[in-house]
Amino acid sequence: MPIRQIVRIDEELCNGCGACVTPCVEGAIVLVDGKARVVDESLCDGAGFCLPVCPTGALTVEVREAPAFDEEKAEERARERGVVYITQRCFRCEAGEDAVPLIPIRYQGQSLWVCTRCLPVLIHG
Ligand code: SF4
Repeated sequence: MPIRQIVRIDEELCNGCGACVTPCVEGAIVLVDGKARVVDESLCDGAGFCLPVCPTGALTVEVREAPAFDEEKAEERARERGVVYITQRCFRCEAGEDAVPLIPIRYQGQSLWVCTRCLPVLIHG
């Protein structure tokens, strides 16, 4: 097995919010019994797009021996499952991503989603 980057989930820190499921287009992360899990390591490319959205710091990327990333399998899984996500909401106004685009940010030590209507307020006050 190759040595490469792969996502690590700290079960103790994970609160099961599901925010990391959406950014993982490969479908590598699923919620099982209220905890995020990498369902198949060959689906995780280690890019770490899931990291910034985790509010608890449960996600990190580590370098270790792991099955090679299987791009074909990941594309097949993405096609099979279609659009799968847990609706996230703006931390300021509670607007859901179905109504307004959301952007992941770091703010006052937290990873949060903010909508494009509230972001200018954070920037300009
Ligand atoms: S975003 Fe973090 S806390 Fe939420 S389910 Fe994923 S790993 Fe757990």
